[in-house]
Amino acid sequence: MKVSELYTPGKTVLSFEVFPPKATSPIETIYSTLEQLCSLEPAFISVTYGAAGGAKSHCCEIASRIKNTHGIEAVAHLTCISNTRDDIKRILKDFSDHGIENILALRGDIIPGQERCNDFRYASELTAFIKEINPEFDICGACYPEVHLESNSEVEDILNLKKKVDAGASHLISQLFFDNELYYNFLNKVRIAGINVPIAAGIMPVVNKNQIQRMVSLCGASLPPKFSKMMQRYGDNPEAIRDAGIAYAVDQIVDLISNGVDGIHLYTMNNPYVATSIYESIKNLL
Ligand code: FAD
Repeated sequence: MKVSELYTPGKTVLSFEVFPPKATSPIETIYSTLEQLCSLEPAFISVTYGAAGGAKSHCCEIASRIKNTHGIEAVAHLTCISNTRDDIKRILKDFSDHGIENILALRGDIIPGQERCNDFRYASELTAFIKEINPEFDICGACYPEVHLESNSEVEDILNLKKKVDAGASHLISQLFFDNELYYNFLNKVRIAGINVPIAAGIMPVVNKNQIQRMVSLCGASLPPKFSKMMQRYGDNPEAIRDAGIAYAVDQIVDLISNGVDGIHLYTMNNPYVATSIYESIKNLL
């Protein structure tokens, strides 16, 4: 089923994100996590491609397991920065052969020293290419409430996002953020720009101190004072910061749902305990 069709006015779609184990770990190490996450029956689960050190080669297999073993719709992420057109064609065939219908089309981060291929410059070009190869794929795109780190201006970033949607992205998932007001401002602006597809808010429960340092340097999310105070007070107490991080995410989600957000995309960090705790707190609000 096409994930974009799951969005209906007045309802909030809940989805999860997982990352594959590293190439050096057996794929089976994620099976119990998948089972627990799927038992919560999210609308879909997306599987990252090469992010957080997860093996790219496991992406399709994990997405297939989510869909074909657990009966939950799957979205496979796909980056184009180091793939040729022929590589992408092969991967798309693999997705089709495994019954994957939904793709999150991404450019991928530019990492100094890492080999780059010049067949695609932007996610919009990948999106257009996928649509050309197989128009039946439902394509999602990434968006950035606090502006993509490389962008010169917010206007430029939103106009580039519009190109991605015009190329065929039928729904969007946002980068994580900790300040809902920034998200609402972003939503107002993208709607004025004529971007009318459903947009899910990316929420990452921060449940340990190291996680936040890594995440902020990677994506540049700003930290509101109440978040920083929470980290200062509980950062060195693993149980307290876990509980506070879950409570913070729930608070953000309750506010977003109350404001009619299209979707909540939970970056689960492969942690079923955290996902389940959040799910139990919000399941009656969706
Ligand atoms: P693009 O949409 O191509 O944008 C990149 C930059 O180029 C932006 O600054 C944009 O404004 C600019 N731009 C876009 N189009 C044009 C144009 N036509 N002309 C000029 N400038 C343009 N990374 C992974 O490696 N694996 C993953 O699985 C993964 N999953 C992610 C999931 C989500 C929900 C998000 C938000 C990010 C994810 N990322 C992942 C990170 C992502 O790859 C990086 O943020 C990357 O730097 C940008 O990818 P993009 O698809 O948004 O790029």
